[in-house]
Amino acid sequence: MKILIINCGSSSVKYQLIDSDTEVSLAKGMVSRIGMSASVITHKPYDRPEVTVSAEVLDHIVAVEYVISMLLSENHGVISDKNEIEAVGHRVVHGGERFTESVLITQELMSELRSLIELAPLHNPHNIRGINACMKTLPGIPQIAVFDTAFHHEMPTHAYIYGIPYVMYKRYSIRRYGFHGTSHKYVAERATAMLGQDSSKLRLITCHLGNGASITAIDKGISVDTSMGFTPLEGLLMGSRSGDLDPAIILHIMAREELSLHEANTLLNKHSGLSGISGQSSDMREIIEAVGEGSTKSKLALDIYCYRLKKYIGSYAAAMGGVDALIFTAGVGENSPLVRSQTCDDLSFIGIRLNPEKNEGVHGTEVDISSDSASVKTLVIPTNEELMIARDTLRIISEQG
Ligand code: ADP
Repeated sequence: MKILIINCGSSSVKYQLIDSDTEVSLAKGMVSRIGMSASVITHKPYDRPEVTVSAEVLDHIVAVEYVISMLLSENHGVISDKNEIEAVGHRVVHGGERFTESVLITQELMSELRSLIELAPLHNPHNIRGINACMKTLPGIPQIAVFDTAFHHEMPTHAYIYGIPYVMYKRYSIRRYGFHGTSHKYVAERATAMLGQDSSKLRLITCHLGNGASITAIDKGISVDTSMGFTPLEGLLMGSRSGDLDPAIILHIMAREELSLHEANTLLNKHSGLSGISGQSSDMREIIEAVGEGSTKSKLALDIYCYRLKKYIGSYAAAMGGVDALIFTAGVGENSPLVRSQTCDDLSFIGIRLNPEKNEGVHGTEVDISSDSASVKTLVIPTNEELMIARDTLRIISEQG
């Protein structure tokens, strides 16, 4: 079955067409700058070079139409008829407490999805826009929602309730939800396979380090704690998000700078993290380059990034009473030997020791980078959220009969 995977952002649509029989990605790409001047579509068929096309893409519906036309294109396409697409799997960021599993999207369900916008105003509206666009462009094709929060739904109460009046949880559903669940689950499953063990015997710590970053403690296959919280702002230092900070700081800055709620939100989500500290970039590659050129602020940003990560690894080992394997994934985790080594430095007291040659040699492949003397395995595992979404989509459709 050919399944189209859609991941909608505010001005972008990422897509991938996966053959679920072979689990091969037939084509992938992205429509960016939607609603702006000079929109761009990049498209990569599995067997031909990537192409880039400029176009006028006013909204997400037009974007999805372009995606379909690229998939059908005579020169760059991978299917000859739209009907070859038998299902669409959507990445939806927030499932709230209602959606603890992937679901088939129906009209009734759309209103429940809309009710979650309050919990994730920066993400869910775009996901819903993508679903609506696919319903229009591919009518009658089953659409499945796969939630970033779902993998974390079994977290124990003591890990998800915040230290504020309990009534706030009851009244406004304020609790830790956690995100990047599809990725944490995928790499945990791959790690379990690589280690040749049963998940019921493993305590894993998975580090998803992309533009957004989160770390998860996985005990016996269950996410028992994770660094992102009510929103994806909490936890590790990220490209442009602050991660953990004293909540009083926000009140103080809002008062001193006379910021509105919207402005404060933008400050914490878009102008903080690596970008805010370095004043240089939110992109780790550029930060590392700037460190090489002697930038002290970029060095500070890098040091804070790795220090926070190290602290979380220690605290999650404590939360699980030990750790058997540490996993690095996503852009930074898969590709940066420097971040991996700086983070794991001094963690030998819990059994984490890297083999420097193996660590240096890894870029985007599944490898065990631990030294022979390590009692905790450190693995690099490229994530594949799209494949997980395709698998879930196939499963839900099969269950429907
Ligand atoms: P997204 O969260 O948007 O999916 P990615 O998982 O692609 O992001 O990760 C993007 C991050 O990975 C960027 O900060 C980028 O600089 C970083 N990255 C990619 N390659 C490297 C590399 N070789 N060294 C360091 N960082 C890298």
